[in-house]
Amino acid sequence: MTNYQCKKARLIESLKQTNGRVRLRKSTSNLFRNRTSSSASLDVREMNQVINVDTAQQTVEVEGMTTYLDLVDACLQHNCMPLVVPQLKSITIGGAVSGIGIESSSFRHGLPHESVLNMEVLLSNGEVENCSPNGKNRDLFYGIPNSYGTLGYVLKLTCKTMPVKPYVSLTHTRYHSPEKYFEAVNAACASDVDFIDGSIFSENELYLSLGKFTNEAPYTSDYTWLNIYFRSVQSRSADYLSIQDYIWRWDTDWFWCSKNVFAQNLPIRLLLGRKRLNSITYQKIMRWNVRYGITAKINALLSRQPESVIQDVDIPIANAAEFLKFFIKEVGIKPIWICPIGGHDPQRVFPSYPLNSKGIYINFGFWDVVQNPEKKPTGYFNRLIEDKVSKLGGIKSLYSDAYFSQKQFMDMYNGAAYDALKTKYDPEQKFKSLYQKCVLKN
Ligand SMILES: Cc1cc2nc3c(=O)[nH]c(=O)nc-3n(C[C@H](O)[C@H](O)[C@H](O)COP(=O)(O)OP(=O)(O)OC[C@H]3O[C@@H](n4cnc5c(N)ncnc54)[C@H](O)[C@@H]3O)c2cc1C
Repeated sequence: MTNYQCKKARLIESLKQTNGRVRLRKSTSNLFRNRTSSSASLDVREMNQVINVDTAQQTVEVEGMTTYLDLVDACLQHNCMPLVVPQLKSITIGGAVSGIGIESSSFRHGLPHESVLNMEVLLSNGEVENCSPNGKNRDLFYGIPNSYGTLGYVLKLTCKTMPVKPYVSLTHTRYHSPEKYFEAVNAACASDVDFIDGSIFSENELYLSLGKFTNEAPYTSDYTWLNIYFRSVQSRSADYLSIQDYIWRWDTDWFWCSKNVFAQNLPIRLLLGRKRLNSITYQKIMRWNVRYGITAKINALLSRQPESVIQDVDIPIANAAEFLKFFIKEVGIKPIWICPIGGHDPQRVFPSYPLNSKGIYINFGFWDVVQNPEKKPTGYFNRLIEDKVSKLGGIKSLYSDAYFSQKQFMDMYNGAAYDALKTKYDPEQKFKSLYQKCVLKN
């Protein structure tokens, strides 16, 4: 038996010893939903190895709980990378494929699940199914994205990779209106660049960042310690990064969310040092804060009514300017990260996260707290956003809070197709349903 097969056999045995109501025990997590119920934990931490990088076929075979940090390290040794690498080092490939990930290569390669060639999935009854686009379990293959472990756990995957060059040459261009900005994003998607994303600081300060692989660089910048990447977007029009630093450019400051732990102040950066300035440290601090209720106690003392608005939503590009103006006026969180999504293969339809294969979508990412001057109903801002996303033909990721009614949820995530998969692959409903897990937080 291979090492992977031994680990798989152990995991099946552990799952069989539970009644199926399990949660994954992992070393890291990017889930922002707090669970309201407790369940047995299934220790999947050892499923974290890169099995094989095949440069001739441009594929990688990897265990499901491998972090992108380890996956990228293994691939870069062979001068290649997965087609889409989420920005945070601790995201695992199984998490990104069962949830929804994205990055600046998504305008060409879609979302991480769109470059998966096959997967092994552990079902609630302890069976492991091999799923591929044309195999007998093709419905499960297409149903896993956006199922968040409610149909099964992804134990192993084979994914496409692409060759890399040692550097990325970057340009940051400022735009002064949402309309002109999204026109430029659209044009960039049809160009020969390799990476596209953007940072929006206000309705007239919108930056489009374009990256291109290059073999040579006159210099390289370093944003892994004292300098902060998102500030460079505002202050310089051109830059060069090593491919590794480009891939992890957002991780050092968790985009801009490191401000919550004061890590954008020089003394704190000096104190934390290069090794601790990363999303893994911030997650630990955040969980520690939730466990001891520090921020909650301060808010209660100051009679504040904050609402956490941590979301990623995808909007058809024709409606992107309207969404942005609504968001700045009604919610007001800044900065906002944007990233175009395209390149879908019309033959590969993922029913639980349906994106129209013909057009480009814009992902908007915003991760902060809105301080309400007066008491508002629970989830007020999140509900406003959900309604606007629905009206504009968009869709939202489910890693954080969601307030949809069951009917809205069924409509947005193709509930009929999901229910059919649930009945087939988890007939005894040992795992929670997607609605229970993502909205009711049971
Ligand atoms: C603040 C924040 C920022 C984010 N930023 C980005 C970003 O920049 N780019 C991006 O691409 N994505 C981003 N995401 C989304 C992220 O990719 C998804 O939430 C993803 O599911 C997290 O993967 P994880 O490995 O950390 O999984 P976890 O957080 O551990 O788990 C997430 C969910 O997926 C399930 N799950 C985990 N592993 C598996 C598996 N192997 N098989 C089946 N189900 C599994 C878990 O049961 C759980 O329900 C962000 C999320 C947050 C909270």
